[in-house]
Amino acid sequence: MHRVLASIFLLATPLLQAEIKPPKTPFDDYLVAPLRVHRLVTPGELNLTTTLEEKDLHRIFEKVNRIWGHAGVHFAFESIITEPAANPNAYRQNHKSRQLRWLLAIRPKASRKADCFHIYYIKRFLANGVYIGGDGMFVKDMARLRTVEGGVGEPIPRVTSHELGHALTLRHRQEVTNLMASGTSGWTFNEAEIKQARDAAKKLKWIRSAPEMLKEADALYQQGDKKKAALLYRQLAGIPLRCPETARAKTRSNP
Ligand SMILES: [Zn+2]
Repeated sequence: MHRVLASIFLLATPLLQAEIKPPKTPFDDYLVAPLRVHRLVTPGELNLTTTLEEKDLHRIFEKVNRIWGHAGVHFAFESIITEPAANPNAYRQNHKSRQLRWLLAIRPKASRKADCFHIYYIKRFLANGVYIGGDGMFVKDMARLRTVEGGVGEPIPRVTSHELGHALTLRHRQEVTNLMASGTSGWTFNEAEIKQARDAAKKLKWIRSAPEMLKEADALYQQGDKKKAALLYRQLAGIPLRCPETARAKTRSNP
């Protein structure tokens, strides 16, 4: 009987998971945060090898940005890099430790860079995800969450969004439908968190306002520097809004 109930529940679960509500933040209020995504693919160490492909990362960040759109923060790919983990032995020596700082040692040196956030995807470690610093966030392919009503159907976008919340100074909350609850599929913010995250974003010089970036892109475009303009347009094109600004950014993203 229990088993039957359990399987009915499992079958019904996806139906309970509503889509992430589309954000209503106007274009002029958006802040754009560049982010470098690292796909770690490590010969001889499957645990340090993500099987997420670029197309998966595009889908994942569409959801991340739908969530963060409610706070008017947009995470734009600075780049997506596929590379082996530095120091794969660190995994073998530390993977049972609750202290996760060892993960910093698997970041390849050559692809570190100032002025953007860094997230590393790997197959497996002891938590769903961890924020150690803006230049050291880790998310695993195998992430699992406790489903809550109206929560995100797919764990990885939620875990990614949660770690980015820490990067913008947010702390854990008890409210299970909130993005900052530990281990649930919740994705919502309250007003105080939106203000706090936006204030933190504004303090970072490399996070810029969408209208300011658009102005610069338009100027470059008019001067005929379409390639340089396209780099800026590309960061704006994914903002989850249908408006003349995002439409222009989309058409001018690929010169
Ligand atoms: Zn957390």
